[in-house]
Amino acid sequence: MKVIEERLVGGHLSTSVGIENTPISASKFGFRTYQIFSKNQMQWKAKPIPPETPDKFKKNREANRIQSVMVHASYLLNTASSDDELREKVREAFRTEIERCDAIGAELLTFHPGSFKDATLKIGIENVASLLNDVISKNQSVTVLIENSAGQGNSVGKTFHDIAEIIDKIEYKDKVGICLDTCHAWASGYDFTNEQGYQNMIDEIKNTVGIEKIMGFHLNDSKKGLGEHVDRHEQIGLGKIGVKGFSLLLNDKIFFNVPMIMETPKGEAGYMDDLSVLETIV
Ligand SMILES: [Zn+2]
Ligand SMILES: [Zn+2]
Repeated sequence: MKVIEERLVGGHLSTSVGIENTPISASKFGFRTYQIFSKNQMQWKAKPIPPETPDKFKKNREANRIQSVMVHASYLLNTASSDDELREKVREAFRTEIERCDAIGAELLTFHPGSFKDATLKIGIENVASLLNDVISKNQSVTVLIENSAGQGNSVGKTFHDIAEIIDKIEYKDKVGICLDTCHAWASGYDFTNEQGYQNMIDEIKNTVGIEKIMGFHLNDSKKGLGEHVDRHEQIGLGKIGVKGFSLLLNDKIFFNVPMIMETPKGEAGYMDDLSVLETIV
């Protein structure tokens, strides 16, 4: 399929087979890229990675021609929060996520900036940046990707302008990029389904964060409407974005080598259908 040979499209995969075996799961779909959680995403604690796992993982990656692996950080890491006690837990857990990525050699670590609750957006942005500066080190290999939000509640990251403000405050800027979630962008009001809207979004990216900072995508359709600020993923082509809505993005050469990870509701049971829908537009 062109969509996996000529684009870097993959999906989120289960680690129930063991992290070291996830490249084999990926190869069943033909993926050259994919995403995993490196630990239970709903818990603070992480079981240590067994010492033999990184080598086995790397061997399996090579044998299955995996180009790029994205890890999704725990949903508990609310970096935008002003609560000191929580922030200390988030710092520790974020450092663990970075260490685990470097241990296995995952290239990308994506996280949701979180919510500023009863503070202001300005404070939320400062909180995210200062926390990232506390946990990102010059010598780490993994690149940390800030995921755009659907704009729900008091979430940080609903515009590229906001994300640019975070990145402006980061010390090691070369360790930070963006993961653009199509469902979230749509929910937060970016209509990239027509030429003018797509160009507006790309121009905003160019004028704020810079196009080279888009280092990953989450490729999801949306159950909810444009600008409704609700984060509900749908199978590709079956939601409000629709298959044609992905056409400009999937055919934009600047992104042919950027990992595009599906996080569609059926997961591994639905990816072959998602891929065959995408295949009709590439
Ligand atoms: Zn996502
Ligand atoms: Zn989402």
